[in-house]
Amino acid sequence: MQSALHLIYPSQCISCRDLVEGDNALCGKCWRDTPFISGLTCDKCGTPLPGDETGEDILCDDCMTIARPWTKGRAAILYQGNGRKLVLAFKHGDRLDLAHPAGQWLARIAAPLLDSDTLIVPVPLHWMRMLKRRYNQSALLASSLGKATDQSFCLDLLTRTKRTRSLDGLGRDARFQMLADSIRVNPKRRHRLIGRKILLVDDVMTSGATLAVCAEACLAAGAADVNIVTLARVAKDV
Ligand SMILES: [Zn+2]
Ligand SMILES: [Zn+2]
Repeated sequence: MQSALHLIYPSQCISCRDLVEGDNALCGKCWRDTPFISGLTCDKCGTPLPGDETGEDILCDDCMTIARPWTKGRAAILYQGNGRKLVLAFKHGDRLDLAHPAGQWLARIAAPLLDSDTLIVPVPLHWMRMLKRRYNQSALLASSLGKATDQSFCLDLLTRTKRTRSLDGLGRDARFQMLADSIRVNPKRRHRLIGRKILLVDDVMTSGATLAVCAEACLAAGAADVNIVTLARVAKDV
């Protein structure tokens, strides 16, 4: 059945639509053009850092100066070039099919942060924005990651209590200010979080303000620990 389907609908590169071997794959050129993060990275946000891995935890300049209420963080790709193009297609271009390969990429980097008790939780989207966009891309990533790793996930553990305008273009302090108190643990789901390790999932990490507010909400509600993974990290000068 699968091979018959391939004769009718050959697999296409998820980025440029060229024909490729296997489903949900990038062609060789797009793979090379997509800035997957590897090597030495910041232990809190996943930004690539110069130098070799030493086995010791190391932080980027941002994570040394900004409060990060979570323990560890990783990112799959840099938010630039083809990485940015894929994230934008996923977020605003109705390319929901990208959730599957993105979940595989997240599974690879999230592996060291997971144990049998970890609960995977997406950063929430306000329902008004959800109506406009029709889906929460972070929830799609969280469920795809949960399925890829056979790990439990809860898509409505966190909710937005007030609508925040888009954070694009705002400075760091303005972002943190805007988000304060905007995220709550869903009282109906709180029992799932108590005493557990939470892995927060978001599509893009810019300042980290949203993730910080989510992590604080989880810890205040009784989570034992919080780690984060993002599909893409906006890095300043790499
Ligand atoms: Zn391609
Ligand atoms: Zn960092």
